[in-house]
Amino acid sequence: MFEIRDLSLHYGQHLALDHVAATVGKGETVVILGANGAGKSSLLKAAAGLVKPDPGASIRFAGADIVSRPAHLVLEAGIALVPEGRGVFGDLTVEENLALGAYAKRARAHGKTSRDLVYSLFPKLADRRKQFVNTMSGGEQQMVAIGRALMSKPDLLMLDEPSLGLAPVVVGELFAALGRVRESGLALLIVEQNVRMSLSIADRGYLMEAGRIVGENTATALMNDDAVKRAFLGAT
Ligand code: ATP
Repeated sequence: MFEIRDLSLHYGQHLALDHVAATVGKGETVVILGANGAGKSSLLKAAAGLVKPDPGASIRFAGADIVSRPAHLVLEAGIALVPEGRGVFGDLTVEENLALGAYAKRARAHGKTSRDLVYSLFPKLADRRKQFVNTMSGGEQQMVAIGRALMSKPDLLMLDEPSLGLAPVVVGELFAALGRVRESGLALLIVEQNVRMSLSIADRGYLMEAGRIVGENTATALMNDDAVKRAFLGAT
């Protein structure tokens, strides 16, 4: 369904992505693991149309070549990004933030159904629909950010470090909610520092190092891989 090939990206002289290839199947959950600076965020940004890759890259989604499309047209094609740092509007309510997520043409006619889905996936948000987002906890704000992305009716949801800065108990809640999002049939592409938690809801994962994909395996195999354990799971 989603296929990246030959994706390279320079920031000036700096090569951030080096001929990256990756796929996400329909309904599949895929994680990208890698140290700080490996290029994970750049990969998601390039896929979302927020940064322009070097010539020669191919990014295909549901049969269409989306590589040169601006971000709003990538969203119309069915790919939504929840950026690192969330980007929610603190002085608007939960409900208003969600409404802003439904501006995509593909989403407009489905606002109510999408909102009902978001509230069923995140019951906490339903209880707080009139609350201003800047009065909510980090975990709740992350749920608002994910909810807003879901309002665009994506087929693929990309998340950049969703658990960053959240307390462990909240991280558990967030991943339980992401598990429900996954069950609803969406494909997920997740960049995450919390390797154990993200692999626990994933089908497959890629390892990134210095702008390259250096490994790929099923989530179960990665969880038991000695190199992954040493690098990311705190094993000695
Ligand atoms: P992190 O987890 O720290 O965000 P990452 O794996 O997501 O790391 P990227 O943010 O994609 O990595 O960055 C990849 C490389 O590109 C890094 O060396 C980073 O310093 C560099 N980089 C990222 N954004 C820019 C930018 N706008 N201008 C210049 N260099 C950048």
